[in-house]
Amino acid sequence: MEPDKRARVEAWLRYGADLELGPYYRNRTATDSARPPDANATSQSGELARPAMSPAARTPSTGSFVGLPLATASLPVTVAPARPSSAVPFAQAPSLFEASDRIKDDTFQLIRETIGDCTRCKLHKARTNIVFGVGSMKAELVFVGEGPGHDEDINGEPFVGRAGKLLTQMIEAMGLRREDVYICNVVKCRPPENRLPEKDEITTCSPFLFRQIDVIRPKVICALGSCASQTLLQTTQGISRFRGEWFDFRDSKLIATYHPAYLLRNPSAKSEVWKDLQKVMAVLGLQPKRK
Ligand code: URA
Repeated sequence: MEPDKRARVEAWLRYGADLELGPYYRNRTATDSARPPDANATSQSGELARPAMSPAARTPSTGSFVGLPLATASLPVTVAPARPSSAVPFAQAPSLFEASDRIKDDTFQLIRETIGDCTRCKLHKARTNIVFGVGSMKAELVFVGEGPGHDEDINGEPFVGRAGKLLTQMIEAMGLRREDVYICNVVKCRPPENRLPEKDEITTCSPFLFRQIDVIRPKVICALGSCASQTLLQTTQGISRFRGEWFDFRDSKLIATYHPAYLLRNPSAKSEVWKDLQKVMAVLGLQPKRK
């Protein structure tokens, strides 16, 4: 489809989604028959029906990545079937034409060059550094956060402040090192006063995140917090409604969990996050770090 026609179609579909219309079908019969019975069910308000999950997936072992004996963490965790990403109503889709958006033979270098000294959105005005991402390009696990904070803006590296130190502890508790995974954010420039990235900023910046993910093709993406999970899953639902559940995202499985900054404010939520990380470990065949 021609680019401007495609942009207009996308705009109309987004407008429809804002009005909570849809989902739209080009061919209802074919689309419906290709789906499991209720996997794509949405309520009248456009909210998701919760996917069926095995009891084991709902109640993994307890524990935490900080200060708890990790022996308790090695219980097997059943992986719930992934749900098609098309089940998630989009809020602000970077593209509704995901497959054709993939760039053949894309590389990090090309992505970085394309970003350049970016002035595409207003976040560029106050930034010190563009925070591209860090870690292994061959990572099986990618963590996606919200956007750089003060420390990240100064250092040009994601998750190096207090929340970052906690994320590093979480990664190590999973039996990995920081350099084994890839860490990036929805937006690459620091939002002033650490405010949430705004819709236009996310729409402008997230295609670069998708390209990074397409280059890595990780087995698992762990979305940290509402901004990352809502952006990737294209939903406006609160994270507590779907955290810990598996979704399909491009070529990966995606799970959302609470952001480490939230855990700094609410340490009691660490056990929930640890359950989510255990699900990731089960998929990746990881053993928790021995003390
Ligand atoms: N919070 C984020 O979401 N990302 C960072 O890089 C740092 C803090």
